[in-house]
Amino acid sequence: MNQPHSKPETYVLHRSSLAIPPRAVRGEGIYIFDQNGKSYLDASGGAAVSCLGHSDPAVRAAMHAQIDQIAYAHSGFFSTDAMEELAEDLVTHAPEGMAKAYFVSGGSEATEAALKMARQYFLEIGQPDRKYVIARRQSYHGNTLGALSVGGNMWRRKQFEPLLITASHIAPCYPYRDQMPGESDAAYGLRVANELETAILELGADSVAAFVAEPVVGATSGALAPVPGYFKRIREICDQYGVLLILDEVMCGMGRTGTLHAIEQEGISGDLQTIAKGLGAGYQPIGAILVSKKIDDAIANGSGFFQHGHTYQGHATACAAALATQRTIRERDLLANVVRQGELLADGLRERFGQHPFVGDIRGRGLFRGLELVADRETKDPFDPARKINAKIKKAAFARGLMAYPMGGTIDGVRGDHVLFAPPFIVTGDDVARIVDLFELAMNDVFTAEGLL
Ligand code: PMP
Repeated sequence: MNQPHSKPETYVLHRSSLAIPPRAVRGEGIYIFDQNGKSYLDASGGAAVSCLGHSDPAVRAAMHAQIDQIAYAHSGFFSTDAMEELAEDLVTHAPEGMAKAYFVSGGSEATEAALKMARQYFLEIGQPDRKYVIARRQSYHGNTLGALSVGGNMWRRKQFEPLLITASHIAPCYPYRDQMPGESDAAYGLRVANELETAILELGADSVAAFVAEPVVGATSGALAPVPGYFKRIREICDQYGVLLILDEVMCGMGRTGTLHAIEQEGISGDLQTIAKGLGAGYQPIGAILVSKKIDDAIANGSGFFQHGHTYQGHATACAAALATQRTIRERDLLANVVRQGELLADGLRERFGQHPFVGDIRGRGLFRGLELVADRETKDPFDPARKINAKIKKAAFARGLMAYPMGGTIDGVRGDHVLFAPPFIVTGDDVARIVDLFELAMNDVFTAEGLL
């Protein structure tokens, strides 16, 4: 019998849907163990973080070695080998045009830094009127006030309004919901991308600083990939109007979709790109922005430095963990495994849920796969958010020892429930089969309890 921890929780500010969460006491490979020894298959990598699984020996050794030398030296005084080597590693493998890496401690900080750097760029080049940001509806770029200001998730935003940055929102690229019958992928991609041009012209072509988007949407929409050509058109529009393209790869980046950067599959680069979760694989909190030469040059030739900074930026132990993570991914050729197991996962999900009465769409890339749940496959009507289907699925899966990442329900009151799978890159075919089996049991638990099966 699984006993909750005996002491009441003191850390009350964060409450998940699991009223009293178990305590994670140990991790090994793709499993986390609680205080009772119960194992949980980490099929979500936490929140698409733990790409190497838990307790990876190479990362642990690198962190130990770093701590034995020096754990932290303030970047206002020192650089460190770990920081310089990681920056070089990231820039060497970055999308075309990226010249520098700037470190922060997580995804929201990366969004903040990118937004400020975009603003500073326009001040440096003498275009101070460019201050508006355009993003997409149902998007999430972080929970700090600047990131929340640009995000398009109205439910998250509304209680904190007024927000800091004036942002306007265009449609996401969401073929399952918004592609019209008979409309080709190319025509649909063009139609939704062109909303960016309309928004720029509405705000005033000389007043828009940046467009922010996740190449493959994770946080709000369950591994929603763009149609081919969508981002090419977005890039064209940004270039035409002098608007910077900020790509948020906090969740979809660093190998998750089968290429190191998700945007590689679209054949373009951003001007700024944020990365975080998979960068340090959860061994240390770390994020970064990749900065294009154009922006780096403007700042170098202008005031000379980015007017920003955090106490822990470039933290030596965090950089050492991230460097070991990135090297391990290459040395073990894990991106090939992401592609291989990602296909198996997609096949397994399609085979098991392709005809499921409450699964409307199965999508994603690499080991970043999502299911969209619907009350009716024909009409695509979502479940009533009050039913909390996604939370119930999380709970049922967790009870069966599976971590699946639930989302949605209340997003803008219209979008439905999603489940996201983002298992570690080290999964085997057997692990993938187990994920699908456990998830099927959890789905049956929920829909039977709801009286729907
Ligand atoms: N952007 C995206 C796309 C994310 O998924 C997240 C986290 N879910 C963030 C930004 C914010 O990252 P963090 O929680 O590390 O601040």
